[in-house]
Order: sequence, then structure tokens, then C-alpha cells
Amino acid sequence: MIDSHAHLDIKQFDQDRLQVIESAFSSGVEKIINVGYNLESSQRSIQLADEYKEIYATAGFHPHDAKDLTEQSLGEIQKLATHKKVVAIGEIGLDFYRNLSPRTDQIKAFKMQIHLAKELGLPIVVHVRDAWEEALAILKETEAEKVGGVLHSFTGNLEQADIALNMGFYLSFNGMLTYPDSKTSKVARKIPMDSILVETDSPYLSPIPKKDKRNQPVYLKFVIEELTRLFSPLSFQDVERITAVNACLLFNLITTIPCQVAYPIRDSLYLNITNQCTNACVFCVRNYTDFVKGHNLRLNQEPTFNEVINALGQLDKYREVVFCGYGEPTIRLDLLLEVARHLKSKNMQVRLNTNGQGNLIHQRNIVPELAGLIDVVSISLNVDESSKYDRLCKSSFGKNTYDKVIAFAKECKKYLPKTVITVLDMPEVDLQECERIAQKLGIELRVRHYNVVG
Ligand code: SF4
Repeated sequence: MIDSHAHLDIKQFDQDRLQVIESAFSSGVEKIINVGYNLESSQRSIQLADEYKEIYATAGFHPHDAKDLTEQSLGEIQKLATHKKVVAIGEIGLDFYRNLSPRTDQIKAFKMQIHLAKELGLPIVVHVRDAWEEALAILKETEAEKVGGVLHSFTGNLEQADIALNMGFYLSFNGMLTYPDSKTSKVARKIPMDSILVETDSPYLSPIPKKDKRNQPVYLKFVIEELTRLFSPLSFQDVERITAVNACLLFNLITTIPCQVAYPIRDSLYLNITNQCTNACVFCVRNYTDFVKGHNLRLNQEPTFNEVINALGQLDKYREVVFCGYGEPTIRLDLLLEVARHLKSKNMQVRLNTNGQGNLIHQRNIVPELAGLIDVVSISLNVDESSKYDRLCKSSFGKNTYDKVIAFAKECKKYLPKTVITVLDMPEVDLQECERIAQKLGIELRVRHYNVVG
């Protein structure tokens, strides 16, 4: 777990700071970002970061303190931000609810600090309250997406979330998610998990069931539990891992996260046997990230049979094993069959996620070879007709590949226990037409959200 936003430097922790920090680290919190809100707080945050290996700091002026930001204090923040454990400029932003600084000062300070972040190449930690339109307009106008950042304690609506996500910002959620009738949780459940961070905002915003107590990082688990409930069937471990990796990527906390050959999501174990593919889909996750649900899938080299088997671990924890689609698994057909044979000898359910081009790749009908080894095949048809497929999926086999994918699905239906075709809910895809195609084939259809992977 990574607490992406806490204020452990402030006086509420003066009596027991050490215990609070130690109890967090001994109960599964791996790292804490301690967020500065003015010059003194930024200095104290760095002091904490110097004392604890797994505490990082930010430096900046909160909108409440914006009236005190001068050219000189901005220069001080700039100096502090060169410290090796300062990972962001923040917290900065607009608070038109409490208005503890005049709005003109808030706007000026927000813009000055975004420019500083861009100069330093650091992400920003943004606080917004009752000023969503103004804050998003400033983020756009200043091209803040060049450094990115997080909108902490997100309380905007879905439309505002979309604007922030399109600029590449992360959204961070805290104890407010656990409050009854939380509007925030209605928005959170619609956000791609790969864009979510978790935080406590300690000592504020304690989650239920600790609502009446001072908040502290050890209570982060309640936020993760609530997100797990919202994103069911993802597990607590999934949400913990994904949000931790998101924080590492944003704040550049770990330079290398090892790539995975076998990786769990929900109650499935996925196998990543190749990154090669015969398509170059415009929407492919590989175009913009190495990560799926918090796992690094960018292989340094393709695994051997022994490497795949060694990566399996304890299989009885899983309902199924899935040859995943971060690359086209049938390109490595021999390995796929050998591994599937091993899995069937252990009585595992085996699913193959494929682009349906195995017969084109091997220039023969490979489906009879899958019989008895693959229980479920999930074929990415993606769209409702051939020219859209050519335009969006860009197969190396050129035109008419769509028809060949459908022919592959028909073969699978003949030989395998279960065949599913999947399509994407992109605006250009006619889902009713997809239904009609699936019905005609007598094959189950599954609609995938095009911006959700894994
Ligand atoms: S078929 Fe899958 S792995 Fe291949 S390019 Fe398309 S989305 Fe990516």
C-alpha cells in the first residue's frame, strides 16, 4: 500500500509521530508521500523523508497559504525541490470554499507553481475545492499535462474526471469514499483503476470505521477495502498492487519494476508468453503503458517452457489460467500447447485470449491442436465490420483479416468447449450489429470497455 498524501509533519502528530509511522510500516503501508503546504511544512516534510527511507516529500504552497507566496519563497521552494526525495510540487491548487487566501492570489500561486513544476520536470499534487472548472481550465492553459500529477481527494463529477483523465492526471481517493451516500464513490467506480491513487490525507478525513479518530496511514486499508468493494471482483491485493504501482509511476519511486511472466488478477492466473502481435491496434494497451492492473508485462525476453512453469507458483489458488493478450499467444503455438498440456495434467481450466489469427500465422488450421487443451477461447473481433477492423486493428495480414477471424471463431466453436467473441464499446462500433453477428454464429458475445484492460 502506498499512502500518496499525508501530513505527518503537523502538530497533531507531535506526541506520537514515531509510533504512527512505525505502525503504518509494520501493517503493510510500504511508502508514504508527505505533502508540504507552505515553506515550513515543505522543510519539515523533507526532514521526515531524510529520517525515513520510505517517506518521500513534496514542496509547495497550498491555496490556503497562497497569499504568502512571493518570488522569494518560490525560490526557496525551487531550492527544496532539488532534494533527491522531493517527488512533486504540491500541494497547490484552488480552494474557493474556504477562501483563506484571496482568489486572485490563489490563481497566481497555482500558475506560478505549475510553471515551476514544468521547469523542474516534477509532477504536481493538486488540491481543488469548489473550483473545479477554474482549476481544470488553468491545468489546460498552462499545459500542466506535460508533467502530469494527481488531483488529490477528488470530489469532482464524472465530466470533470474525464477532462482530468484525458490530460493524463491521476485521481486520488480517501476516507470520503467510505461515507454514507458518498457522491465520490459513484464517480470513483467509473474511473479506470490504472488512474487511481489512494491516500489518507492524515490527520484529516478519517474513514469509517475510524471516523471519530485522528486519521493516520495505518487506516489506508479501509480506503482500499472500499475500492475493492466498488471494483468487485478485483481483490484487495489487486487494488493494493495497482494503486501502489500507479503511485510509483507518477512519483518515479522505483525505476524498474520487474516484468511478469505469470501474474494474478482476481481469481485468475495470466500467462504472458510473448509481446509480439500480428495486429497494431490503435487502442492497444502496449501503445501507452508497460503495465496492466499493476503488473509490468513488457518482457525483456520471451520465456522458455521451464521459465513459464517456474513462474506458475501454487495453482490451486486460481479458478483458471489464461494465456493473455499483451501480444498474440498463438505466435508461440508450440510453447502454448506444451504449457497447456502441463496445466491440463494439473486439472486446471485453461483460457486462451487471442486475436483469432492463429490460422493465418501458421498457414494451417491449428484449432484441432487446441482441442482437449483449451477450455475457453476468447477471440477479439473488436468491431462490427471488415473496413473498421482494417482501420483500427491494422493486421499485418492486410485486408479481409476480419473474415478470417470469424472463420477461426467458427472452427473454435466446432472443436472447443466454449468460444466467446469480444468487441469494444468504442463510439464507432455498432454493438447491435455485433449482437447480430454473434447470434448468427451461435457464439457468446462479450462487450469490453475499450479503455479498461485486464
Ligand atoms: S491484438 Fe491485442 S495485443 Fe495485438 S495489437 Fe491488438 S490489442 Fe494489442
